Amino acid sequence: SVPQEPPYLTGLNPQQREAVETLDGPVLMLAGAGTGKTAALTRRLAHILYTRRAWPSEILAVTFTNKAAREMKERVGRLVGDAVEGMPWLGTFHAIGAKMLRRHAELVGLQSNFTILDTDDQLRLLKQLIQAYGIDDKRWPARQLGGLIDSWKNKGMTPDALDAGESEQYANGRGQELYGAYQERLKALNACDFGDLLLHVLTILRSNREVLEQYQQRFRYIMVDEYQDTNAVQYLWLRLLAQERRNICVVGDDDQSIYSWRGAQVANILKFEKDFPGAKVIRLEQNYRSTPHILGAASGVIAQNSGRLGKTLWTELDAGEKVRVMGVWDGPEEARRVGEAIETCERGGKSLNDIAILVRASHQTREFEDRFIAIGMPYRIIGGFRFYERQEIRDALAYLRVINQPADDLAFERIVNTPKRGLGDKAVAKLHQLARAEGIPLSIAAARILDTDELQARARNALGAFVGDIARWRDMARELPHAELARQMLDESGYTAMWQADRSADSAGRLENLTELVRAMEEYETLGAFLEHVSLVMDNDAQADDAKVTIMTIHAAKGLEFDTVFLAGWEEGLFPSQRALDEGGIASLEEERRLAYVAITRARRQAVILHAANRRIYGQWTSSLPSRFVGELPREHIEEETTMSGGESLWRANWSEHADPFANVKRGSGRGPGWQRAASTGGFSTEPKRIVESRKSAVSLGNKGRDDIAVGMRVF
Ligand code: ATP
Ligand code: MG
Repeated sequence: SVPQEPPYLTGLNPQQREAVETLDGPVLMLAGAGTGKTAALTRRLAHILYTRRAWPSEILAVTFTNKAAREMKERVGRLVGDAVEGMPWLGTFHAIGAKMLRRHAELVGLQSNFTILDTDDQLRLLKQLIQAYGIDDKRWPARQLGGLIDSWKNKGMTPDALDAGESEQYANGRGQELYGAYQERLKALNACDFGDLLLHVLTILRSNREVLEQYQQRFRYIMVDEYQDTNAVQYLWLRLLAQERRNICVVGDDDQSIYSWRGAQVANILKFEKDFPGAKVIRLEQNYRSTPHILGAASGVIAQNSGRLGKTLWTELDAGEKVRVMGVWDGPEEARRVGEAIETCERGGKSLNDIAILVRASHQTREFEDRFIAIGMPYRIIGGFRFYERQEIRDALAYLRVINQPADDLAFERIVNTPKRGLGDKAVAKLHQLARAEGIPLSIAAARILDTDELQARARNALGAFVGDIARWRDMARELPHAELARQMLDESGYTAMWQADRSADSAGRLENLTELVRAMEEYETLGAFLEHVSLVMDNDAQADDAKVTIMTIHAAKGLEFDTVFLAGWEEGLFPSQRALDEGGIASLEEERRLAYVAITRARRQAVILHAANRRIYGQWTSSLPSRFVGELPREHIEEETTMSGGESLWRANWSEHADPFANVKRGSGRGPGWQRAASTGGFSTEPKRIVESRKSAVSLGNKGRDDIAVGMRVF
């Protein structure tokens, strides 16, 4: 009789099967999106456990997110049952690093109950050090130092092993000294930061032969998903651990390397064969996820990149529908169209859980959130906070609330020392005392306490200035449009500057969110109406397990798949991002293109790409061009459509605000991310004529229908 095939081998194609069954020696599974790399890795894990080649505790398996780790554990559990119990070393690099560090903390001068600091704590600590070292923290902000230290840790460099030139990046060469002092201080606090979870473990493995050998023996098998996005310290770590047994299997796709801004090095995957001579390279070519049109569209875009390893992809799925490319008039119309399309999917019996909206920049979620609230469409934001819950948005809203409502103590407390103005906890405690004793709001107490000698001179000056600012902003609120008030307030309070000085990876995104907030305000008549809207949005918490549309950034969508995917904002300056266009030349542009590839390949059956002809920035309309990636989509795989009804919304909006719809349209002046975008995508200027021209250039990118809009405008 034919021996029964174990469940974990069922349905695999020959290449996947080879990957699952090649257990000895290094293996590199190099394949495009949706070819079942993660699936094969999971089966391989099941195979090892099922055949008892290793105990669960003898396998090191690294996934990119905690969610992916949970899923892998679940799937292996389904395949082999209890054998999966206790896979202590299945998780993200950080989770595994934390576990190892707890075991050997003393080897780097910590105790095993060390604290892991969050970014706020980390900054406070850096700030103290910078002051103690007599460095001007206006010129050399703590956030900048924090960003540098992170990047050094990602590169695997301890303070005494900084590469030449690194130290120069901070305070005229004092980077190294401060980095060293910071590490000492952490030790004294029995604490570490996120980067240490990897760097300390690397140090331990490097300087303690016994420990290294113990782990080299323990881990019979090592497996890593999304290998193309490992950074230097992770790479060094894996190489040490795998050197002895060499049973390491890594899985990745050079075309999906999208984290170089966090120190990831696609080179790691390219040099795997060199690091592990004799590695078996397995290529998977059958895609099980997406229809031919979706694959064709994605392949056409990524083909424009140079220096690729190159891969063939094919699928047996039915052709399905073409990728829809939809030109809309503006952001609100984009959100409206997507909302309508989702409702159509719903009527067709599709679950909201199978639908995702992917954006390039996190500020783009706002327009969709507002729209979905309005039409009662349940949604979830993954890999980030919902727009109005983000730290910078809450801070900015607190400023507005204080202006709107002097008794809003919570808001006052949130901003009284944000950005830092030298008001310590003590001063704030005194404010509270006075407010309580007299039964008055904090903002009134703040004015009164200035007449007493309760506060030290420094705190009193700081508070005096702040109270004066608030009074001035309240006056301004009577005259200025509220969006303009918000912008000035964020500038004058130093809040914008605080994030501008921030060199951490997410600061640019936060600034964009602030710009987006101001943009959102323009849609409301009064400040009060806007704040009312926000509190309603915040309150909108649907049941946790209801079906919901997912809204997320492309970065967060890596490795995931959905039946229907909407790809929003494919416009020059938004995607590719203005930053990529300004800074990086070819390398950053190619990373943006890889992002486009990741985005399209998340879709199983249906992909819709949207681009708007106009985005509204600080009350002014700016024309945008469709992304070059739209132009790179092979014609035979797409179906283009342009809506015109949206034109109305522009006229309506402008009519209600200004007699002349174009009175307010000016060339961009670099005032914010949006302005720079407008300027370098051609910076269309005042007259309607110029805007008509911009439509024409859009037509040359293959956007039929655009000239109709132009005609419509001339008629108007
Ligand atoms: P990505 O590069 O996006 O991470 P991937 O290569 O890891 O993609 P998977 O997520 O593992 O791809 O698989 C994509 C889809 O194909 C999943 O729905 C998976 O269940 C399915 N799949 C994988 N292998 C097979 C197979 N042999 N037969 C049928 N379906 C498969
Ligand atoms: Mg995968």
